[in-house]
Amino acid sequence: MKALVYLGPRDIRYKDYPDAILGGPDEALVKVAKTAICGSDLHIYHGEYPTPDTGFIVGHEFIGEVLEVGSNVRGFKPGDRVLSSASIGCPDCPECLKGRVGRCHKGPFSCYGQGSMMGALQGVQTELVSVPAANTTLRHIPPDISDDQAILLVDNLPTAYLGAKNADIRPGFSVVVIGLGPVGLLCAECAFILGAARVFAIDLVQERLAYAASLGAIPIKGDNIQEQILSANYGVPVDSVIDTVCNEFSLKLSFRLARKEGTVSEIGVSFTNSFNFPLAHVQSKSLAFRIALTSVQEEWPELIPLVQGGRIKSENVITHHMGLSEGAEAYRMTVAREAGVMKIVMDPSK
Ligand SMILES: [Zn+2]
Ligand SMILES: [Zn+2]
Repeated sequence: MKALVYLGPRDIRYKDYPDAILGGPDEALVKVAKTAICGSDLHIYHGEYPTPDTGFIVGHEFIGEVLEVGSNVRGFKPGDRVLSSASIGCPDCPECLKGRVGRCHKGPFSCYGQGSMMGALQGVQTELVSVPAANTTLRHIPPDISDDQAILLVDNLPTAYLGAKNADIRPGFSVVVIGLGPVGLLCAECAFILGAARVFAIDLVQERLAYAASLGAIPIKGDNIQEQILSANYGVPVDSVIDTVCNEFSLKLSFRLARKEGTVSEIGVSFTNSFNFPLAHVQSKSLAFRIALTSVQEEWPELIPLVQGGRIKSENVITHHMGLSEGAEAYRMTVAREAGVMKIVMDPSK
């Protein structure tokens, strides 16, 4: 099969790779129909992972068609159109059966395409994937959900939704979203769904600010961010901040922007184990600080109806469709934020 393989920093190539085969009784072999590049794939691309692995297939976002199922897999059969969660638990513990793979009794959840980290699974930017714990990882795609809508349900939209829920947003609240990649833009959309009255959206890229404005958010850029938001928010700090960037600058900005007894929700991915946490400042404001990785499955019961009902138009963050054979170029364009690129979906048949 063909696959996008990580060979070293800024070197992801379209190459031949041994075909994936059904890995065991709990797995399902799925033919990839669409696969997407996620912001967290870019950490691998840039060589930021704390492991020296190379030669693995990248990517963790895909939808496809079931080809074969193991003997323990129930409810899926060859020909089914499915999406696969990027967070993978076990096939049968009580928490995973409820979708709460983050609380799996058997260990931390795994994720495709992270080298030797997070379960050492191969990635999904390829033609065939053997899906672990298929009973709890796969979901049938309802017929009224498009491919573009479905691929956002495997990671980005559930992550954004959790980021917004963790920000304790209540009707009438003012909210800041820092970083307007696809997850940040979806955070703004989810904040409105949860009742935010005003959403301030911070980024440096003009097209992303314009997209946020099209959602009804108030675009913010420049040096005097805190002053701009204060003056647009009737002179008071915001109730909730969602940070999608997860570095020292964005976190400290988050703590400054939130009101006393407000909430800061961190949903970006970090590989740093220590951080100069402004403890006295956060304590003096009695801030709530939450940080999480998403149990994707847990968010589906609320998100799938919101997408079906047209309340969330997540698919609009997808700006480009390309062939998997153009994968190296797709990564380059995503990193360069070229020509309005926000999210690229790739087709392995091309
Ligand atoms: Zn992702
Ligand atoms: Zn489990």
